[in-house]
Amino acid sequence: MCADFTNLKSEIHSLESAGADTFHVDIMDGKFVPNFAMGIEDVKAVASLSHIPIDVHLMIENPENYINVFASLGCDPIFVHAESTVHIHRALQQIKNAGKRAGIVVNPGTGIEFLEDLFSLIDFVLVMAVDPGFAGQKFISETPERVRRIKEKIAAHKKSTAIMVDGSINTQTIPLLYEAGCEYFVAGTSGLFNKKDDYTENIRKLKNCCKQ
Ligand code: ZN
Repeated sequence: MCADFTNLKSEIHSLESAGADTFHVDIMDGKFVPNFAMGIEDVKAVASLSHIPIDVHLMIENPENYINVFASLGCDPIFVHAESTVHIHRALQQIKNAGKRAGIVVNPGTGIEFLEDLFSLIDFVLVMAVDPGFAGQKFISETPERVRRIKEKIAAHKKSTAIMVDGSINTQTIPLLYEAGCEYFVAGTSGLFNKKDDYTENIRKLKNCCKQ
């Protein structure tokens, strides 16, 4: 959603050649989050142009109604919000049944105890560093500590669940998150689409934060 939609084809190719590992597509329904962003047709367009994997982050109510559609478009992993359905176990199972990796997303204000009951189903925990819905928001400073606590839970349960963080990812926040145990980063306006440097230089700087 941060890319220039009037030049989507060249944006996709520029990001791929700049070293992006995957396209993270934010789907918003105007209900679960106040904003609208990208839909099924957009994912089809990105998929038809892309040579790297696509994951989807479903910020929509009752995501179970759309999981099979996004799975059929090849999206992997598929991320669903813990807060978006009362049947989160069923939604995650649906992703696994479709042969895709399952990711659970936790908003900044959501407790993390429940993750222990879902470790058998989840491949990723996506930790929001901002309240979802809009690009360009300020990093919530408690996020690294949340990552550390989730990492401890994963270790205590002897799981290999990976941690990803979404929101305000840049060269200031990545070192804090990486040190806390985060391995995957969703780059948006603050670190990648900021027009300070071109995509190649921005991605090089972001990846360098994980080399210490
Ligand atoms: Zn996202």
